[in-house]
Amino acid sequence: MSRTDPLGQALERHFGWTSFRSGQRPVIEALLAGRDTLAVLPTGGGKSLCYQLPALVREGLVLVVSPLVALMQDQVHHLRRRGIAAACLHAGLPREEADAVRRSVGDGSLRLLYLAPERLQSQGIAQLLRDALARGGLVALAVDEAHCISAWGHDFRPRYRRLGELRALCPGVPMLALSATAAPRVRADIIRLLALRRPLVQVSSARRANLQYTMRLRPSDPLPQVLDAVAAARGARLLYVRTRRASDTWAARLRENGVAACAYHAGLDSGDRHQALRHFQQADRPVLVATSAFGMGVDRPDVGLVMHLDLPASAEAYLQESGRAGRDGAGADCVVLFHPEDRQRLALAMRASVMLQAGEETAERLAWSQRQLRRMEALAEGEGCLEQGLLLSVGEVVDPCGRCDRCLRPPAASDCSDGVRLILEQLPEAGSADGRRLCQELQRSRAEQDLQWDWLVRRLVEEGLVGESEDGGRRLWLTAPGRHYLRSPWRLRFGRPQAA
Ligand code: ADP
Ligand code: MG
Repeated sequence: MSRTDPLGQALERHFGWTSFRSGQRPVIEALLAGRDTLAVLPTGGGKSLCYQLPALVREGLVLVVSPLVALMQDQVHHLRRRGIAAACLHAGLPREEADAVRRSVGDGSLRLLYLAPERLQSQGIAQLLRDALARGGLVALAVDEAHCISAWGHDFRPRYRRLGELRALCPGVPMLALSATAAPRVRADIIRLLALRRPLVQVSSARRANLQYTMRLRPSDPLPQVLDAVAAARGARLLYVRTRRASDTWAARLRENGVAACAYHAGLDSGDRHQALRHFQQADRPVLVATSAFGMGVDRPDVGLVMHLDLPASAEAYLQESGRAGRDGAGADCVVLFHPEDRQRLALAMRASVMLQAGEETAERLAWSQRQLRRMEALAEGEGCLEQGLLLSVGEVVDPCGRCDRCLRPPAASDCSDGVRLILEQLPEAGSADGRRLCQELQRSRAEQDLQWDWLVRRLVEEGLVGESEDGGRRLWLTAPGRHYLRSPWRLRFGRPQAA
């Protein structure tokens, strides 16, 4: 950093850091030049700084929309400790405090104002914006976790749709959208729905060189594997389960085995939730057993293990959750234990939750989320590099990582040609067959071969030899390549998923 680098100087003066992280400087410069920006930087990549520093450099106000109150409070707390004037407005704030916040906007002393998305509708906010604008002190509008605006993101929040209106109130102010994982389709949605004008799109690699991925078959009771992984990992450890009940049960089982573990899920009362969070943030080597309700904004840098005890719902969601490991840059393990039945269970839960949200595009979104799930399963059951497969699903093409379980211990491939032929021959020339019945019949007549027929069918779907219906493969048919294969077969070798 040189004397003539005012941004670097501001970074050091306000935060005490001597260099920018990858992607931060171009984003900050674009914003200061008045340009709209979409920043896709990995978890822990330092997205907050991208909107905090411009407020300080310009001595003006930056408005930040953020999805969770806890997340806002946490950031405000950290900023105030650095002597930076920051505040948040949310429904739970006492009236006097909200008034004080408004005054600090009015007199120009506030630098960062965090808003919960539900506040956007309120009249007061529009007035506040006009005031700040009239003073000429509105530096930027920032939208954190911007993927929440897209129905094709992994955390759709319909309220985020109102952010377009915010923009309409102050068209001349540059807007910054931030996200850790946004697939190309989600990026396009963010740009369109926020009406970003010829934005700078700054995308840093989602590759995390310090994370080691493993995906293995879950045994009927994975307690020994969980205990081993938990004991072997450094720092804090995070287990993800699908249901609230599993969260409670697993926390109890771990405690019975001498591991101080806490449950965390949306069903806890606020006292218990706080206690679990405190445990996770402050204990020396905490273990938290959480549903996916947990995570956003919890910034513990030394998480040495993120372990999923079910198949994750999508690669995007998985990258977000596993990304909480190793924010300090030191090595960390990301482990998934899955079972062939996980997809059916998850698909049902998904259907229920998408139906609850209702609204536009319901059927299409449901089909889309089932496809994401199907791809996640294919990745878990496949043979390729895990990091490569995960990143490909968010639009990034990389070489095999050489670090993951698949790269280090590739599953032994065996010749499956006989089984393949048996399956393809059972499928009718025209129309389709009942997938489940087909597998049951093969199991009954050919059990001696010890083949998991449903697994092999899924592999053939991946290979394009078999087509399957989107309801989780209840109908199967022979594709043109499948017919071709029957006429002139070649040797097909597949590696079975390995047990944990
Ligand atoms: P993100 O929102 O991208 O997940 P955060 O903004 O929460 O990441 O930042 C992650 C951590 O990195 C925080 O502890 C933050 O203080 C720190 N950080 C951000 N930028 C820098 C930097 N340039 N130098 C050192 N630490 C930084
Ligand atoms: Mg963040």
